[in-house]
Amino acid sequence: MPAELLGKSLNELREWMASLGEPAYRGAQVYHAIYAERRREFAAMTNLPAVLRERLGREAAITLPMIARKYHSADGSVRYLLPLGIGSAADAARPAAVEAVFMPSDARQTVCISTQAGCAVDCKFCLTATLGLVRNLTAGEILGQVLVALDDNRERLAPRTNVVLMGQGEPLLNFEPTMAAVRILIDPNALALSPRHVTLSTSGIVPGIDRLAQEKVRPKLAVSINASSDAQRDVIMPINRKYPLAALLDACRRYPLRPWERLTFEYVLLGGLNDSANDARRVVRLLAGLRCKVNLIPWNPGELPYRPPAPTAVEEFRRILADKDVPVFVRYSRGQDIFAACGQLAVIETGIEARA
Ligand code: SF4
Repeated sequence: MPAELLGKSLNELREWMASLGEPAYRGAQVYHAIYAERRREFAAMTNLPAVLRERLGREAAITLPMIARKYHSADGSVRYLLPLGIGSAADAARPAAVEAVFMPSDARQTVCISTQAGCAVDCKFCLTATLGLVRNLTAGEILGQVLVALDDNRERLAPRTNVVLMGQGEPLLNFEPTMAAVRILIDPNALALSPRHVTLSTSGIVPGIDRLAQEKVRPKLAVSINASSDAQRDVIMPINRKYPLAALLDACRRYPLRPWERLTFEYVLLGGLNDSANDARRVVRLLAGLRCKVNLIPWNPGELPYRPPAPTAVEEFRRILADKDVPVFVRYSRGQDIFAACGQLAVIETGIEARA
């Protein structure tokens, strides 16, 4: 069985190369070739001796997720359906598939990626929750989604890439593989993205936030809050019973922000449920003293029993926050027509068919 190299860190590649009896610095050359030069074939790694290239061709692999289907949105976004672990016995019983979304704009592209197949967190407004957790992704599978989306849009790439870990799954419940992928995304000798352009979104896993706070290299942190009281949040995000708002906001207050950084709070507005003026006033009080911004995300119609907020309710909610000097933005999700929008990522269990 060839060794899978995608997702390996610099040190892991150095050690692996040494275990083959090769000089460890060859591992650094392979690291640079895979992530910085984005080479997929060992034969194209011309910085390596020909004999080693041939050996790697026999003994190693760089496996990107296969694109099973693509859905093109009228707004230019593309949703990818990516089955994982094809041919693996472990995935045969319940095939794992994830989705990644490529969203172009003038000066940049944003790639939204998944960290788990399915999700166990069970947010009631989220289609992914209906799958339950299928399995955790490896670092290579997480990183591979970015590479697939960039490779497939090679002709229209803008200079800047943003990555958001907001697809299927709760990243902080698959901590180590997620962070291994993030370190490679941010490493100036690998994909070289700015830490300002990589955002991890959590449903509010308090121990995970505390653990992220200890990391030397960190993405930006977004917290999906979606409610103005525990009573409301318990209903739409059952994880709140384990990590209630007070504990979550305490973790946010002790989170060590860098000088340029603000926390992002995401608030999905569900019509008639969490979108009143009183909700907005409670959110202002909850976030008092935090260096943050709020993204209001009007609910996207899907197959779940919620309705979008009235445009007047969205505007009033926004105004109440803005009047209290809370930076607030209304985010209309991209790719709604291809089920690529927030809370709409769900592959049915065959892993090959989609709901679009
Ligand atoms: S919103 Fe995120 S954390 Fe919640 S169920 Fe969906 S994928 Fe999981």
